[in-house]
Amino acid sequence: MPHPFLTISKQKLPQAWTITPNSQALGQLAKGIWDCAVQTGSRPLVVLSTAGPLIGVRAALEQNRPKDLPHSIAFLPQVISFTDWLEAAPGAWKFPKKQTDLERWLSVFVNLRKHKVLQSWFKAESEAGAWGLAQAVVDACDSLSEVVVPQLQSELNALLQTHTLDTEAWLKKVELVLDQAVAKAYVGLSRNVVDEESAVLLTFWRYLTNIGDPVIRKHLAMAAQMQLAKANAEKDRTTVRPFIWVQTADPKPIDQELIDAYLQDYAQFATVVRVDLDWKSVALWPEALCGLDVDGHIAVANSQEDSQIESNIQSHRQADWRLLAARRFEELAWAATKSIESHLIAGKKNIALVAQDRLAARRARALLSRLGSALQIRDETGWKLSTTRAAAAFDIYLEIIRAPKEGPSASALLEFLQNPYFDISCSLNQAPEVCIGLIARLEDILIASQAKSGWETFTMAIERANSYATSNGGSPNPLLINLIKFVRRLHTGWQQSMVDCSSAYVLLEKNLQEIGMFQRLEKDAAGKQLLEALKGFDLSSGVYKELKMRLPEWLSLLKTVIEGASYEEVGKEAQATLSILPLSSTRLRQFDAVVLVGCDEQQLPAFSEPPLFFSDTLNRYLKSSTIAAQYVQQARDLSQLLVSCKNVDLLWQSKSKSGEPLRPSAWIQRLQAKLKDWRVIDAKPELYEGKSQPIAMSVSTPDQNLAIPVTVSPSAYKALRDCPYRYYVSSLLGLRKVKEFDEGFDASLAGQTLHALLKTFFQALKTEEAKSHAPIHQGIAARRQWMIDHLMQCSEKEFERLIAGDARVLGTLRDWQKQIPSFIDWQIERENQGWRYHDAELPIGFILSLTDPDGVQRDIRIAGRADRFDIHDSDSTAAAVIDYKNQKMKKIVDRSENILDDPQLLIYARAADESAIAAHLPGRTVGQAQWITLKAELDKGEDKNIRAHAIEDMPNAMAQFSEQIEKDLNSLWARKPMRAFAPDSICQYCEARGVCRKGMW
Ligand code: SF4
Repeated sequence: MPHPFLTISKQKLPQAWTITPNSQALGQLAKGIWDCAVQTGSRPLVVLSTAGPLIGVRAALEQNRPKDLPHSIAFLPQVISFTDWLEAAPGAWKFPKKQTDLERWLSVFVNLRKHKVLQSWFKAESEAGAWGLAQAVVDACDSLSEVVVPQLQSELNALLQTHTLDTEAWLKKVELVLDQAVAKAYVGLSRNVVDEESAVLLTFWRYLTNIGDPVIRKHLAMAAQMQLAKANAEKDRTTVRPFIWVQTADPKPIDQELIDAYLQDYAQFATVVRVDLDWKSVALWPEALCGLDVDGHIAVANSQEDSQIESNIQSHRQADWRLLAARRFEELAWAATKSIESHLIAGKKNIALVAQDRLAARRARALLSRLGSALQIRDETGWKLSTTRAAAAFDIYLEIIRAPKEGPSASALLEFLQNPYFDISCSLNQAPEVCIGLIARLEDILIASQAKSGWETFTMAIERANSYATSNGGSPNPLLINLIKFVRRLHTGWQQSMVDCSSAYVLLEKNLQEIGMFQRLEKDAAGKQLLEALKGFDLSSGVYKELKMRLPEWLSLLKTVIEGASYEEVGKEAQATLSILPLSSTRLRQFDAVVLVGCDEQQLPAFSEPPLFFSDTLNRYLKSSTIAAQYVQQARDLSQLLVSCKNVDLLWQSKSKSGEPLRPSAWIQRLQAKLKDWRVIDAKPELYEGKSQPIAMSVSTPDQNLAIPVTVSPSAYKALRDCPYRYYVSSLLGLRKVKEFDEGFDASLAGQTLHALLKTFFQALKTEEAKSHAPIHQGIAARRQWMIDHLMQCSEKEFERLIAGDARVLGTLRDWQKQIPSFIDWQIERENQGWRYHDAELPIGFILSLTDPDGVQRDIRIAGRADRFDIHDSDSTAAAVIDYKNQKMKKIVDRSENILDDPQLLIYARAADESAIAAHLPGRTVGQAQWITLKAELDKGEDKNIRAHAIEDMPNAMAQFSEQIEKDLNSLWARKPMRAFAPDSICQYCEARGVCRKGMW
């Protein structure tokens, strides 16, 4: 039964009225407010303790507007939330400047530095942990201030009355009063705390409390509102509007005291009505009905209350309360989606999804997005700004700033360059057409050279690629170097040990402008909000503008602020609306249907993170929120939700991640015990049946229109030999896996460097040999020493830049330097056999002519780059080809056993024979081919051949190879079926595995 509105008395006391929080609650409230307006003949001011029901109350007032109202009260009564009411306090301009959250965290930071006692306590904290702690400290200090500041109310009132025009002087007085109060309270509170943790917190509170704190502002605002009412009442009491306070949620005891005192005082000047919620006919559990006792514990229900609950349950039972259990997370999200869909099909327009399980709600939201613009989804649970694409892009930029002084990793660099908010044409100041494909080219170079980190490494890789392009008829791209230089300059700008807050912000803004990110973020809804959040870091006009901190600290603060910011989606008109919200936000709101996901015993009720510093007992002492109070509030919210809405679906996951059974929340179980026919429905996904064909080994016949490459590299030919299907996928279709960088450092660039330095060394050797008095001619020992010393120096020099890019390469250099004496011994031994170094790094190839099935003559070029050619001193027709391998001898021996499947050396030998002039070997034939390991196992002993491995029976191998390659290329050009056929050792690392689906057949 609704409670009729009271008859307003003339007594100068607050008057109490209650409403029943059921589906008619807003209507009852609206009627009461109008009744108050009519009785008092003036337009009331309605303040709601929470903002959630604001729109609902205004709409209900409009719907329930009485007819024939006098002019003076014809306007809709003013309805405002408590927070907005505080902001609207008269004379708020002269209140102390409001401190932002950021400024308050910084004040914790400053105090930590200033006070040794605090430092010793928190010295172990990491940057991110320290900012998290700063937030907790600020929250805890607010709780302490909440208890202390009410004692100041009379002083604050007196100060407001002085009406001094000099705001500065006024602020000084407020500050003084506060300081005195804090000092006094500190002494009192210190007596009550015994543990070290609370003592530290009190110390913080002593230092941090400031007149810009929200608690102080709240009290000043309330005092100012009261002053206004008093001043008006003194002139004419009838001009003071009636004040209706609507308590929409159970207040914390400290808030209750505060508002009670306020209402009491206000009642001296005007009518005051306090509206509370009456749970008697709504509560479905005793705790929702009885609440807390005087000591803050959950009150025990008596038999009369128990029977009231029994009758409530029976009378409110709805046929459309559904209880749905899903076994797995995905099934739960599907079941929630299906529930929402069924409500939409039934014509419901305003649906709530209560996100008790936030992950499942997010997943359901993603599944519902396929409904398109017909459904507007409003997420009130606080979509984090950090989860947006804009924030992710910004984070990648921070990764670059944060990189060590040698430079970032290649993956971080590429991620930064490839993010959609990076504007390459703006960064390089070039026309967009010029920049097309630049980043893809850079990616190819870095991956091919395995340049994994460091500015010097990237620059070297690009220089090498550019010089290769120049010497092979390609076109080098100087913009690539400019691009690296540009990002490097950004990075260097941040390489200072300490940054000050205001110049760091200026530099950040400048960087964002330079990379075009600022402009792109401005065009994006989330980007705009991100820029807004970053603006908070513009501390140029505040006290912290010169505050210095280490760069990681500043960056971590930046991340903490973005992490805490929420993203507000722009709403669009749609046929139906789905609000995703926490249980507390359903209070006094109306929905056509509600889906509550996550009603298991672990998530319902859900308690807020306990404060870092206070125990539950201390919270009680501080009159703050306790676990028991949260428990009661949630029981009430759930009762209200079930009672107010006919269609409520309660969903939970009946098996935990570890496979343990999960029961529904105890509240649901207790209802089930009373409602015997309330059965659980198993939410099972719909199953579709179909028959599949077993997959057979993949075979593909190249299409007539598919171009076959006319150049074949040794590695492409190896791929064709290994598995024709793999060649089909990689070389004919051109499909490539997105390559990633392995952990570790740049083996390949280091490999290239080894090749390059060996070439440099042997060229220097040739030059030295040409000098008749060089020490190299003074016997074997002197020659050996010169060679060792020179190769050592050469190695140091060539590796220098690589090490500057990535210090880990130093290990590779040292490993290689250990190899040098043994390598030189092998070289001298070879020289003793009459062989001389001739040339290295030589591009070389031969042409294979064949006729395709259409009778067209095809010239296929088989070409590669040979590592080294040697010539024989005493045999003017003999030459040898050498391939350096950065592998152990065992691998090389294995490789030689399948020489026809990996005939790289045979290709070079044939190429040198067929184009002796191009190979600089006129009149000579390559009769020897060998692999040289640069990773010899030195401990295997000197008597064994640990460095070289030659191909046996070269003439025979050459003949077989020539016959084989012709046959293979003829089949390829005949477009014969290409089968997926390879041993597991090859399939293991095959990129085409996902296409051929080996393992499925
Ligand atoms: S996984 Fe094996 S069979 Fe399949 S394409 Fe690769 S190499 Fe061939």
